[in-house]
Amino acid sequence: MSPSGAELLRQVKSQIEEVDPSEVHELMHEGVAVIDVRETEEYAAGHLPGAKHVARSYLETRIEGVVPDRSTQVILYCASGNRSAYAARTLKDELGYEHVRSMTGGITLWKDRGYEVVVPRALSSEQRERYSRHLLIPEIGVEGQQKLLDAKVLLLGAGGLGSPTALYLAAAGVGTLGVVDDDVVDLSNLQRQVIHSTQRIGIPKVDSAEESIHALNPDVNVVKYQTRIDASNIMEIIEGYDVIVDGVDNFPTRYLLNDATVRLKIPVVSASILGFDGQLSVFKPYEGPCYRCLFPEPPPPGAAPSCAEAGVLGVLPGLVGCVQALETIKLILGVGKPLIGRMVYFDTLNMELRIHKLRKDPNCPVCGPHPTVTTLIDYEEFCGLRTAPNSPTHAQTRQAAS
Ligand SMILES: [Zn+2]
Repeated sequence: MSPSGAELLRQVKSQIEEVDPSEVHELMHEGVAVIDVRETEEYAAGHLPGAKHVARSYLETRIEGVVPDRSTQVILYCASGNRSAYAARTLKDELGYEHVRSMTGGITLWKDRGYEVVVPRALSSEQRERYSRHLLIPEIGVEGQQKLLDAKVLLLGAGGLGSPTALYLAAAGVGTLGVVDDDVVDLSNLQRQVIHSTQRIGIPKVDSAEESIHALNPDVNVVKYQTRIDASNIMEIIEGYDVIVDGVDNFPTRYLLNDATVRLKIPVVSASILGFDGQLSVFKPYEGPCYRCLFPEPPPPGAAPSCAEAGVLGVLPGLVGCVQALETIKLILGVGKPLIGRMVYFDTLNMELRIHKLRKDPNCPVCGPHPTVTTLIDYEEFCGLRTAPNSPTHAQTRQAAS
């Protein structure tokens, strides 16, 4: 005869280890993975500080994403300690986790003991609907969507790359978008700069971008900077942003941006495009190389013959800019493997993607242990010859399309 539910629970509890809330409280900050196995609505109503959510019904498929190392100390809890007991047995016996315990009495006993419970802010009903497809993704959910709504992203340039990044980040619910651009909308922009429109020719790009962003998502706060970034204003503009999306069209700004963002430890999602080719990387200060690790010094002014625009396929910034938006969202959410220390090359004419590892320069003049570049410099305008893709100077000599 099969055991009754109560008997089965007794059996399961005899096969696993349990831990008292007081011990969990002491262990919380010591690298222990605390997992809430309740349903999404229960977790959203309040959970232990720092607890990760993996509903019991998704335990087998999602636990590895949250706790990849099976030797990690794992503590599971639910409402009263029963569901987490079953889940603990599954982790131990079927998935091979070595140190799994279930918290006695669940969050109910935890609360009775007077320990802290974190209640995530709720989304409005309109937001739940607007972001419903995000809420379904385990890597985002309500918590991730809140992170997006709290995030501040600065877009350098409301041009070719800035158009798709601004639109998709706005659509995703990134709460604050700063837009830096001193230009006005020109007819020749519209072949690729899809955030603007024919009726807006002649008006400042920051105003045009703001109109499109608000039309798409009124949740987004747009901060406009109708100016060019230089050494005198860069620190003031970029301070306080979580991520910077670099779509600038000139190398002096790129060096200046690198030097300033390393100083403020702000990650930069950097891309450039030309013709049918694009490239993209994430420069996260001190976690991977910075731009100067790759190219320590800008070429001297006048070293290259011409700064004439070489042209760009209109759809290319759409593709590369969308990847920038995606990497930005990964950085905000803290999920996946961002493109830190790697450069992706798009050869869209032959439709080939290549990813190259980038190395940190141990003697980097900016992010190395003994930095020599200690003041912000406005480099004179310079430009470079186009070189073969993948040559070390490729990134440096490309002209990003604005
Ligand atoms: Zn560096």
